[in-house]
Amino acid sequence: MDYLEGLNPQQRAAVENTKGPVMIVAGAGSGKTRVITYRVAHLIQTGTDPFNILVLTFTNKASKDMRERIGKVCGAEAKNIWMGTFHSVFAKILRVEAEKIGYPSNFTIYDTDDSKSVIRAILKELQLDDKLYAANFVFNRISSAKNNLISWGEYQVNDQIQAEDIQNKRPLIGQIYETYAKRCFRAGAMDFDDLLFKTNILLKEHPDVLNKYQQKFKYLMVDEYQDTNFSQYTIVKKLAAAYQNICVVGDDAQSIYAFRGANIQNILNFERDYPDLKVYKLEQNYRSTQNIVDAASSVIAKNKNQLEKNVFSENLEGDRIKITRAFTDNEEGKMVAESIIQERTTKGYNHKDFAILYRTNAQSRAMEEGLRKLNIPYKIYGGQSFYQRKEVKDLIAYFRLTFNPKDEEAIKRVINYPKRGIGDTSIDKIIVAADQNDKTMWEVISNPHMFVEGRLANQLNDFAVMIQSFQAEAKKLDAYDTALFIAQHAGILKELYTDDSVEGRSRYENIQELLNGIKEFSEREDIEEKGLDIFMQDVALLTNDDKDSDKNKDTVSLMTIHSAKGLEFKNVFIVGLEENLFPSQLSVNSRADLEEERRLFYVAITRAEIKLTITYATSRYRWGTLTNCEPSRFINEIDQKYLELDVKPAKSNVFEGNFDDEKKSWTSQPRNFLTKPKAGATAPSAPPVRPKTTSLLAKAHIPTPGFAPSLPHEFQGGMEVEHEKFGFGKIISLEGNLPDVKATVFFQGLGNKQLLLKFAKLMIV
Ligand code: ATP
Ligand code: MG
Repeated sequence: MDYLEGLNPQQRAAVENTKGPVMIVAGAGSGKTRVITYRVAHLIQTGTDPFNILVLTFTNKASKDMRERIGKVCGAEAKNIWMGTFHSVFAKILRVEAEKIGYPSNFTIYDTDDSKSVIRAILKELQLDDKLYAANFVFNRISSAKNNLISWGEYQVNDQIQAEDIQNKRPLIGQIYETYAKRCFRAGAMDFDDLLFKTNILLKEHPDVLNKYQQKFKYLMVDEYQDTNFSQYTIVKKLAAAYQNICVVGDDAQSIYAFRGANIQNILNFERDYPDLKVYKLEQNYRSTQNIVDAASSVIAKNKNQLEKNVFSENLEGDRIKITRAFTDNEEGKMVAESIIQERTTKGYNHKDFAILYRTNAQSRAMEEGLRKLNIPYKIYGGQSFYQRKEVKDLIAYFRLTFNPKDEEAIKRVINYPKRGIGDTSIDKIIVAADQNDKTMWEVISNPHMFVEGRLANQLNDFAVMIQSFQAEAKKLDAYDTALFIAQHAGILKELYTDDSVEGRSRYENIQELLNGIKEFSEREDIEEKGLDIFMQDVALLTNDDKDSDKNKDTVSLMTIHSAKGLEFKNVFIVGLEENLFPSQLSVNSRADLEEERRLFYVAITRAEIKLTITYATSRYRWGTLTNCEPSRFINEIDQKYLELDVKPAKSNVFEGNFDDEKKSWTSQPRNFLTKPKAGATAPSAPPVRPKTTSLLAKAHIPTPGFAPSLPHEFQGGMEVEHEKFGFGKIISLEGNLPDVKATVFFQGLGNKQLLLKFAKLMIV
């Protein structure tokens, strides 16, 4: 069995020991995920039916990668393994079993926006102060109750919870929870937490169903076990109870979701739950250089609460970790981008060998700007999902309504979009009529003359007839034809088509992209049912990363540290290492929160294979104002012997700029790269220096294969410029958006010329 040769003795033992409970708690990069992957492959190779294997991963991407790897050993059989995130796997099971717990099988999945909108409506009805009862706060409270398997009934009689709510001056959360739960149920909708909460109810109240899935999933495996919450823990425990063939892997030092209810106790419980538990130790890190592994260990050693572990690397000692200071966040983005070019040109890396990790999504802006200016292709993971865009959600709401007309959030979203004269007052009338008559909104809308009068009744009738026509088409057509029919007849395509602003065009394109995705789905040969309802089923669970049709593209990855869990990259930048940003402002007042933040830093460091750069800025725009920043305490927590400081003397960054108080920004002069290239490496040539000329396109002269000139957005009308061929001129006007800005430039003796800035190599004189 060749594939077993890629494992060390401990890993191999864990792979081959497929019977009974197994746990691996080991440091980052020690091959935990690899053990699960090989274990599944091994099970299949030794005769286990892949339909009997359930693997739970933390992201959809992780399960896709794992399936691909298993496919390399086992071929097409890999398709049949049950594998995915907790949410996606149990959503799939609930589709089959929903009716047993009173839901339609085509239940809608409410995303967080939908949930908060329901909560806001309830707050309004109860006339509660929406500052005190902020939707976010209430939502988190309900979410946390569900993740601890506390129903609204239990919530209301739990003394401790009641005392907390009273102390927080929000005694009515229990009541809001009750109304919220009933509202979702009436709408045939489950929120994200319900997917696990209701699975628990299903398995508890229906022993036959539990038995069916216990028999089905004879082998269970859970990756990133340290981040499971109580609700997930309970599901796993129930499913594994019959055969006890369960293997969990995790690292307590990487537990970073306590704020969402993840409970480290689950690791400790595991030992208690399974007395015959076999525990395997993995100590060798195969991912990173010695310097990176040792630096990470020196940081995490500062945490008091942790299980003891040894980690070592036999890889090269490697470069020291570089700490780089920037003066502003924009400067930070620029430095990172330049450093990527430097590494690529001197060491031959691809773009996909680089990742930029940050604490908060908002930090991506400065990074993006830096990368765009140097024409470095990048992809942001986990930002606003394609499926969260307004226009996409609007059309999807029509789809949702077609299959589940009870879906009240969908009704509210589209009943007056495009405008058809059914405004907020009318919607309130529908809600009141529904409540008074104990009907759903849809029952009112589809029998309007029974509940409301006059013009509104006619308008509602038209709307209901339209939705019914969608339902009729959906029965006959495949996903794409149904979707197109709806987009056309609901008026969304026309509405967006007639909006010829730049935003309008991009919204229209997004709708087209959604339709293209559905078309692709309709043409798939590996699935039998191709209705739009099937496509729609778990759309709420999809993230940006899942829509990725060009996943093999060579791009730099940008993401939060939370979404980088489990991943690895040759070169990693951790940016924004500043007090109040990382560690975050909210975490510095309690040890538990600070330790979670430190674990997050540990996760970030351990993503790097070869080179790690940590950057910080001394000032940054936050909440719209320029704020001074101090370097993060975490930098000092790394044992100094693993560091290479690139911050002293201040001039070593060769930043020779002036701060323009009026514009609140730095005007920078050209400067050298941050690091000196190693001897023998091809150093990027310095920008050609011309008298009195500042080349904003200096980087365009770096001999990088396939590297196009940068995008100077600093150009303005009226500026004097110089062009290689046309000589001196003046910018008359600029039009278009980056990267396609077109300039009209007047050149002496030649008149006006139109130039695309990205190619023109203009210099400001
Ligand atoms: P994390 O805690 O970050 O999730 P992990 O413990 O899951 O890390 P893996 O991602 O499984 O670690 O492995 C880290 C890297 O080391 C991967 O590139 C993997 O292929 C490699 N690796 C693991 N074990 C071995 C081995 N025995 N021989 C060679 N490479 C290995
Ligand atoms: Mg892993």
